[in-house]
Amino acid sequence: MARIELVNLGHRYASHLPYALQPQSLVWDDGGAYALLGPSGCGKTTLLNIISGLLIPSDGQVRFDGQDVTRLPTEQRNIAQVFQFPVIYDTMTVFDNLAFPLRNRKVPEREVKSRVQEIAEILDLTGELKRRASGLSAEDKQRISLGRGLVRKDVAAVLFDEPLTVIDPHVKWLLRRQLKRIHQQLKLSLVYVTHDQVEALTFADQVVVMYEGQVVQSGPPQALFETPEHTFVGHFIGSPGMNLLPCDVAEQGVRLADHTLPIATDHLSRLRATGQPITLGIRPEFIRRAQADDALVLTAQVHRLEDLGTYRLLTAQIGGHLLSAKLGEHEQIDTPQIRLAFEPGRVMFYANGQRVA
Ligand code: ATP
Repeated sequence: MARIELVNLGHRYASHLPYALQPQSLVWDDGGAYALLGPSGCGKTTLLNIISGLLIPSDGQVRFDGQDVTRLPTEQRNIAQVFQFPVIYDTMTVFDNLAFPLRNRKVPEREVKSRVQEIAEILDLTGELKRRASGLSAEDKQRISLGRGLVRKDVAAVLFDEPLTVIDPHVKWLLRRQLKRIHQQLKLSLVYVTHDQVEALTFADQVVVMYEGQVVQSGPPQALFETPEHTFVGHFIGSPGMNLLPCDVAEQGVRLADHTLPIATDHLSRLRATGQPITLGIRPEFIRRAQADDALVLTAQVHRLEDLGTYRLLTAQIGGHLLSAKLGEHEQIDTPQIRLAFEPGRVMFYANGQRVA
């Protein structure tokens, strides 16, 4: 397994085009499970292709354990890859498919057998080992592809490019769990590209969120949820995402529509110092019906209340902006207005997309 370093790494597909990947530096630890998460066109595949050696970057370096591999072809990088669609040999048995990457490297047959059995067990393929791959479902074939990617112990990293796309949604959660288990058991370095936040958050220890060619935040799922460092992270992660409301900085607090929310003076000076328009961010999970002793209270016009089983999703309007709040499953609202409270410590402020307080 290898520590992967990206040093001032950037890419332009042609000198007259803007950067598809903005120059940036990152370090990914040996044995970590990283997900590259972001919408279509944000640069995930470009970055993955640079790491795998399919693409030589226009700027910067890729290092595996300190060694510069930027210009090394894929086959000399000692990586395994799993793609969106199964890459297996239909005429071979499941066992031979799983054994292929090991036999290719002249691993002794006894070791091949034990390793294939170990991987087959984790992926629930033990009962299929003697079957020809051609007779299997698309899901099982992709399971074999995953197994082929994970079977070697000596790879620097395993790269996954949206590997669960062809998998039925009912089976996806199971495979996600299996992947997580494989990572915990085998301690492989994994890099996993996806645009699906659930996939990224359940699989990875560290989620690398990309937006317009840049990594806007990298951290454990909880940090991305609790402290988004960029408005894009707040908006993209969560369902629904963070509420983002333009506000004004006043003497005693921030003004939101016709309310003044009291904010600590050091926060206020930080907001003022930016000289930029300020956006207040609060997740729907951290808004509730106001109680007598709440400090951050405002009155909103009720738009609708949807019963979503385990909670009720309130959409309310405040000063021309819509706001979402996840209220308790039994919450009733019989009035056109509701007093809502923001949980102290959960309110974030952003200038130019970046968190400032
Ligand atoms: P998707 O999830 O749709 O694959 P992505 O996040 O992987 O998107 P990339 O495919 O890396 O994004 O694309 C990043 C940017 O680079 C996009 O603006 C895309 O249009 C552009 N791009 C990708 N490949 C090329 C190419 N061969 N030539 C020119 N521009 C390209």
